Amino acid sequence: MMDYQILRQRMVEEQIRSRGVSDPLVLAAMAAIEREKFVPPEYAAQAYADCALPIGLGQTISQPYIVAYMIEGLGLKGGESILEIGTGCGYAAAVLGQIAQKVITIECVAELAEEARNRLMALGCKNIEVITGDGTTGNPENAPFDAIVVTAGGPEIPPSLRDQLKIGGHLVMPVGGFQTFQELVRVTRTGEDEFTRELMCDVQFVPLIGAEGWHKSGRRPGR
Ligand code: SAH
Repeated sequence: MMDYQILRQRMVEEQIRSRGVSDPLVLAAMAAIEREKFVPPEYAAQAYADCALPIGLGQTISQPYIVAYMIEGLGLKGGESILEIGTGCGYAAAVLGQIAQKVITIECVAELAEEARNRLMALGCKNIEVITGDGTTGNPENAPFDAIVVTAGGPEIPPSLRDQLKIGGHLVMPVGGFQTFQELVRVTRTGEDEFTRELMCDVQFVPLIGAEGWHKSGRRPGR
């Protein structure tokens, strides 16, 4: 029987803190969420490996360090209302749920959304709502959000998401002209119509498919 708690603590120290993520809220949240419960059973032994893993239907659970780095980029203090696009298995949503007051997460693959919803409910993550649908147009009903994180790569920042960010809030998303690799970008809304943009690092995410993302066929723009 593996001692997942020891593996988890090691992951936090050796993969995350050692690479420069230092926000105590993020480190505590990563130390709390049982990643082995988010991967398919056949991958449980690799749940704390320093890489992304397949979760079926061509999708992945992100590398732990990238999850931590993206969440640190949101600059959370605790108690926020957050929008995530790309629920996948629900791992990053669960980590966000440790810090935020409320997380709304949108997944376009209905089967994954349903699985994540059941998993998060079974784990007692009560402040997370999983919505099935295209997240590129966001969730106007609950906007504006203190922070937005997109965990799939798009050709540009969806304007709808930018517009659903509170002034002073951050949006973190992989952006690039290719479907297979991107640059992680952090956008800060500094005024009603003012945004600043910083580059964080190179990343490889699955494509963001939708009205303000990639078209299914791989063409851009998304319509
Ligand atoms: N956040 C996950 C990683 C998800 S991988 C984690 O914590 O591990 C990216 C997910 O984005 C995939 O499940 C994919 O189906 C989903 N996705 C792609 N385009 C989308 C869109 N327009 N709206 C919502 N989800 C989308």
